Amino acid sequence: MSFSFELIRKDPHSGARAGLMRTPHGEVPTPVFMPVGTQATVKAVSPKELEELGATLILANAYHLYLRPGAEVIAKLGGLHRFMAWEGPILTDSGGFQVFSLEALRRVDDEGVLFRSHLDGSEHFFTPEKAIELQEKLGADIIMCFDECADPLDYEYNLRALERTHKWAERCQAAHTRGDQALFGIVQGGVFPELRAKSVEFLTSLDFPGYAIGGLSVGEPKAVTRRIAEFTASLLPEDRPRYLMGVGAPEDLFDYVARGIDMFDCVLPTRLGRTGTALTKRGRLNLRNARFADDPAPIEEGCQCYACRHFSRAYLRHLVKAKEILGIRLLTLHNLHFVLELMRRIRQSILDGTFAAFKEEFLSSYEAREDYRMRRPGGRRG
Ligand SMILES: [Zn+2]
Repeated sequence: MSFSFELIRKDPHSGARAGLMRTPHGEVPTPVFMPVGTQATVKAVSPKELEELGATLILANAYHLYLRPGAEVIAKLGGLHRFMAWEGPILTDSGGFQVFSLEALRRVDDEGVLFRSHLDGSEHFFTPEKAIELQEKLGADIIMCFDECADPLDYEYNLRALERTHKWAERCQAAHTRGDQALFGIVQGGVFPELRAKSVEFLTSLDFPGYAIGGLSVGEPKAVTRRIAEFTASLLPEDRPRYLMGVGAPEDLFDYVARGIDMFDCVLPTRLGRTGTALTKRGRLNLRNARFADDPAPIEEGCQCYACRHFSRAYLRHLVKAKEILGIRLLTLHNLHFVLELMRRIRQSILDGTFAAFKEEFLSSYEAREDYRMRRPGGRRG
């Protein structure tokens, strides 16, 4: 069975869309939030728990898995699904973003990228062909083209990088042999509308089954991210899923669903969980705060997650303060539930024709924070 995407309903008042992706490992209702499982594990939760949380698509990273344990090892053990015991759909990131991070990059030419492993400093050479071979060995349902990630604000660099990204997209497509994997193209072009338009024009001529918008949310002002994402999404074909890479804070989900984005990934829920912070309808709750020391309430009243059904803020605070593993696990479960449930409600509101009202209701009480940037240039993700 191969990949398909069906557009089910468009919101009449915004760019929001509800759809359904079909993959060899199951269906993915869109818009969708992908929990990030960089190292073939969504940190602190089991695949069984992910299933119970209703995750339908998870993201793993080809760069990290190439370095450790190695794609051959995973292929020999039956591929990524079998290796990590997650039978649902998986998307792998090609590694472009990681190898172009400042600390890794050694040299780039038309052939590929020489980079340094963040694990042991050893040098490796990635080409588009190698990125595809690697992702075919891993065996995810959706794989990504290998692209050059430029500083979004540097016009000259983006102009050059775009040329290369386009040639590499052609080479990725030519190298791709597995019919059971969907290869998505990645639109680049920084913060420059004319470059984004050029990129969309070229990549859509290659007719990919889906398109990602890359190179955003890497430090540029949020208003710029919104403008460029909206502009780019508006040029992409309606009958293909659109993936905004590295974005997915609760307020962003509304912002970008409204701008026609279908797929999101973000380390925020899992990373916050590990630092003792919970996502709630009012914003973030830092459970280290002394005021929760004897608070008998759950993280969020009415939340149906395992943590909220069984444990008080006081107990969770105690676990976090005592650095107990269970505290991290429970907060991660809650945060993932929060974001996945939010996305389910967003999708339902699009189907019901109430997206605008739901958006307004949620954002009127949610206190967004600006410090969630998880994909800095030169930083690593995951
Ligand atoms: Zn909860």
